[in-house]
Amino acid sequence: MSRSDALYARACEVMPAGVNSPVRAFRAVGGSPRFVAEGAGCWLVDADGHRLVDWVCSWGALILGHAHPAVVEAATEALRRGSSYGAPHEGEVLLAEAVREAMPAVEMLRFVSSGTEAVMSAVRLARGATSRPCIVKFDGCYHGHADALLAKAGSGVATFGLPDSAGVPPETTAHTLVAPYNDAEAVAMLLERNAGRVAAILVEPVAGNMGVVPPADGFLPALRRLATEHGALLIFDEVMSGFRVARGGACERFGVRPDLVALGKVVGGGMPAAAYGGRRNLMEQVAPLGPVYQAGTLSGNPVAMAAGLATLRLLDAPLYEGLERVSGRLADGLSAAAAEAGVPAQVNRVGSMLSVFFTDRAVTDMASASSTDRTLFARVFHGLLERGVYAPPSALEAWFVSAAHSDAEVDATVAAFREALRDAAARGPSVHG
Ligand code: PMP
Repeated sequence: MSRSDALYARACEVMPAGVNSPVRAFRAVGGSPRFVAEGAGCWLVDADGHRLVDWVCSWGALILGHAHPAVVEAATEALRRGSSYGAPHEGEVLLAEAVREAMPAVEMLRFVSSGTEAVMSAVRLARGATSRPCIVKFDGCYHGHADALLAKAGSGVATFGLPDSAGVPPETTAHTLVAPYNDAEAVAMLLERNAGRVAAILVEPVAGNMGVVPPADGFLPALRRLATEHGALLIFDEVMSGFRVARGGACERFGVRPDLVALGKVVGGGMPAAAYGGRRNLMEQVAPLGPVYQAGTLSGNPVAMAAGLATLRLLDAPLYEGLERVSGRLADGLSAAAAEAGVPAQVNRVGSMLSVFFTDRAVTDMASASSTDRTLFARVFHGLLERGVYAPPSALEAWFVSAAHSDAEVDATVAAFREALRDAAARGPSVHG
């Protein structure tokens, strides 16, 4: 038995499915997860010493790759001065200023420890500031595991959300209205039907949690206009897209200014940190200045602030140009390999986020994303893994390119993808779905 499998067996005795977050368990692709011993640059080394090109990069957190020397140095130096204070410190101010400089929509912010907390707190603030109960979200967008946000739509029609998880009472999602992604008309309809009751439109401005789905031309500006017309706030969940699709996130890339923004992943430089922020007059509603309560023992953690700041300091224009080029090469290579193999595929990409959907339909929302051939994806995933390439272990997740990836890893990945497709085809038609 491999060391990874032995660890997995022990892990399954002490943690549900042996993991601390569901997708890590490989349930969507079958088989058992690789246990990681080390990350270095764009490489993972598993517990058996296999080197894998990592296209997950901690689900997008590691824009500089694993263990970047500047980040390691900053975090280590901070740790020597104490791991947590539970009191304010300079590192928080420096990182908050760096965020505001990159994202002018974030005039003030609060640091929290996870993306879940960031979005949950932004939603509470929106409800508190508007004294309205409802939230509009989109089918296929994930905003963390807070109760009210674990809701999806019924069969692609704008509708009231039903809980996506046991343990969430329907009352909790009764104020969560769900529209199809990229469908501004459905949002307009929901806002009209619930006039005066919608606190906020909450959106992943680049969807990444149904695989990567770019916002259609005009979709984000339409949400901005609709929110303003109906007295609702616009919240961009940039936990994934922030500092990734541009230094200033989707706000910068698409030129739309939301009222509130949730950040996570890159902002903590691979340490547990996240944030929510936005207009000053809204943020002044947060306790102790205002009536909206939110707090956290480890919020603004000094080690995480140092890692985040060291990361943000390296995010300059040449870095994004490099990401764009390497990511384009990867997307083009994967597309070409699928075309050569005669496999219908769509590669959606925004900056250094991309997904391969095995379908002949353009993927613009959850319904079209769901048309991807998951069986084929699972086969290709394992074909890649056997060849030393670690892709996201689910058909509806994003691949993340880091500044540590180069043409060499892209070309090796495309070659492995070509072989994996060939092997998958040799196994006969996949059972779709
Ligand atoms: N929002 C988005 C857009 C995300 O992608 C995620 C996590 N993938 C979250 C929120 C939740 O963040 P966390 O896992 O840090 O709680």
